[in-house]
Amino acid sequence: MQYYSLHHNAPKVSFSEAVIKGLAPDKGLYFPETITPLPDSFFENIENLDEVEIGYQTIKQFVGDEIPETELKEILKDVLSFEFPVVDIAENIGTLELFHGPTMAFKDVGARFMARCLGYFNKNNENKVTVLVATSGDTGGAVAQGFLGVKGVDVVILYPSGKVSDIQERQLTTLGQNITALEVDGVFDDCQDMVKKAFLDTSITDYMQLTSANSINIARWLPQLFYFVFAYKQLKSKSKDIVFSVPSGNFGNICAGIVASKLGLPVKHFVASTNVNDTVVRYMNTEKYEPTASKATISNAMDVGNPSNFIRIQQLFNNNFNSLKGNFSAYSFNDVLTKEAMKEIYSKSNYIADPHGAVGYLGLKSYGLNENEYGVFLETAHPVKFLDIVENTLDLNVEIPKQIQKVLNKEKVSIKTNDYGKLKEFLLS
Ligand SMILES: *Cc1c(COP(=O)(O)O)cnc(C)c1O
Repeated sequence: MQYYSLHHNAPKVSFSEAVIKGLAPDKGLYFPETITPLPDSFFENIENLDEVEIGYQTIKQFVGDEIPETELKEILKDVLSFEFPVVDIAENIGTLELFHGPTMAFKDVGARFMARCLGYFNKNNENKVTVLVATSGDTGGAVAQGFLGVKGVDVVILYPSGKVSDIQERQLTTLGQNITALEVDGVFDDCQDMVKKAFLDTSITDYMQLTSANSINIARWLPQLFYFVFAYKQLKSKSKDIVFSVPSGNFGNICAGIVASKLGLPVKHFVASTNVNDTVVRYMNTEKYEPTASKATISNAMDVGNPSNFIRIQQLFNNNFNSLKGNFSAYSFNDVLTKEAMKEIYSKSNYIADPHGAVGYLGLKSYGLNENEYGVFLETAHPVKFLDIVENTLDLNVEIPKQIQKVLNKEKVSIKTNDYGKLKEFLLS
């Protein structure tokens, strides 16, 4: 499998090169040259396949022959070592819980897959790779945990000071070893801009191999397609048309879901649910893509003003607006509506949703399901990760799971950073 740059001005590369580079030299995102649908028999027999086999069958064409079957299955066994249940919360609505991994957010799968692929590609190689990543919340923790102790890889995480939750901050500042957290005096977009600048700065890249672990990296992005296939396996016997609502920030997760549908997964419609960072929602109404600065919300992992993966979604629909519109809708909700939805879900179904999941739930409501449809909203983080908001909104106490308890009594270590010069100085030191 070859990958090309969506800016069409860089050579095609193999899977390993795309993973190691992160972004193409022309600054474009890498995109698979072909997506070949799986045979119908795969979906017909899916209930007889375990998660590792499903993962292998759906990802193997994207990896190509660079990781042999046995090793790829070993990687998947390690990555997919927890549950991905769909929980019914109403007559025709369920939530796909993606928070059973080590950092209790859905990014664990992508981060772990990428870390293990990089570890595999580096195992006979003395060259160090530095993973540079900006986070608005959960990416940092998942990447830190996924890469902890991986040989030949240093991880540098930039996060906006005071704009991530206490638990998120501890997950990325308390691990030590090969993980360093830079605490940036600014918003997420400032962190992302600094990362982009470093990738283009030859005085850094001539000296070290930098790569990204944001969902621009194909090894972070593509394995997220598993979720949609795992949900289908659980819902197939309902014989309904499935509508997925995906709480979206950088639009990597929903984009991976669309890749799954291109593999032949039966999906009726995709709903992108956002907070007030509504660049894509406005685009769907006006066909004009006008990114804005990101605004802080209670669903902070989606506070993204210029979603990097939207260009991949457009490509998946051959840049045809009408074709996109037929399969994809987007809705935006403010914090007041999000809190009301959390209350509604709790009072009607006795289910505690985090703010991101609640935005997903609202997306299904706006879409308006008919009786032949079953809507699934993705619950992208455990409610404990947004403890204050969940406890105050629902007036209850959330039990703290042991994965989280472990980090709560560790001491935060971060390096304060206020400009690009400081990042550069750190990388070159
Ligand atoms: C990252 C994240 C999102 C947004 O996912 P994208 O792939 O960036 O659209 C949603 N919810 C949570 C909890 C997240 O951590």
